[in-house]
Amino acid sequence: MSISAGSHGDSTDSGIVIAVDGPSASGKSSTSRGTARALGLRYLDTGAMYRALTWWMLSHGIPVDDADAVARHVGAAAIEVGTDPDGPWVTVDGRDVTAAIRAREVSGAVSAVARVPQVRARLIGMQREIIARARAEGRGIVAEGRDIGTVVAPDAVVKVFLTASEVARATRRTAELATDPTATVTTTQAEQARRDRMDAAQMAKAPDAVDIDSTLFPLEDVIEMIADLTAQRAELPDTARTTR
Ligand code: C5P
Repeated sequence: MSISAGSHGDSTDSGIVIAVDGPSASGKSSTSRGTARALGLRYLDTGAMYRALTWWMLSHGIPVDDADAVARHVGAAAIEVGTDPDGPWVTVDGRDVTAAIRAREVSGAVSAVARVPQVRARLIGMQREIIARARAEGRGIVAEGRDIGTVVAPDAVVKVFLTASEVARATRRTAELATDPTATVTTTQAEQARRDRMDAAQMAKAPDAVDIDSTLFPLEDVIEMIADLTAQRAELPDTARTTR
């Protein structure tokens, strides 16, 4: 598929933002990375930032259910994220925690950390800076999370709300935890339901978001749908024409 060229490539912040929101294991990461690759955009996993801060809290013995304690330590960890869709990474105080943040302990604790207002203020500020930089320096960015289309980047040119059936989500997450013999589809589904409940206040579907159920389509089709929407709504810079 070919993305047609536009005429405003000389503007310093002409890069576009595509927001992909939805619950855990709905296919956001594969979809967002694939879309970023197809359109030559950067990629931001905002969930990885909440997970990285949670990893730091856990490794420093901060009780994550104590919102005051979490708030007091919110600025203590230096978090950096890479935005290459071919190799996203996240570091905390210079240590690469890209794999460690996927552990079940982190998944079980992250919602409690993410609901603390001081945590959200800090990470949303960082996310907006990363997005602004990608817009200024390149073609733009695909950002995935829970509140991208509503809070982090309400001016995103395309907003997608990605869902999947509960069983498909649990099966996908269990496969990611392949090295953990205690993770079964049933236990994962229960953990997921708990996280959904705790994340409910953070997750919001923008009124102008397009609903896509990733259970109904192959990944390539979902990426193509988003690429088509983007082509309709955005004029990508001339130098950035992409053919898939
Ligand atoms: O996307 P992922 O499941 O890795 O996100 C981990 C957690 O981070 C979510 O369960 C949620 O608590 C939090 N999160 C958030 N806002 C975002 C992204 C993630 O609160 N934009």
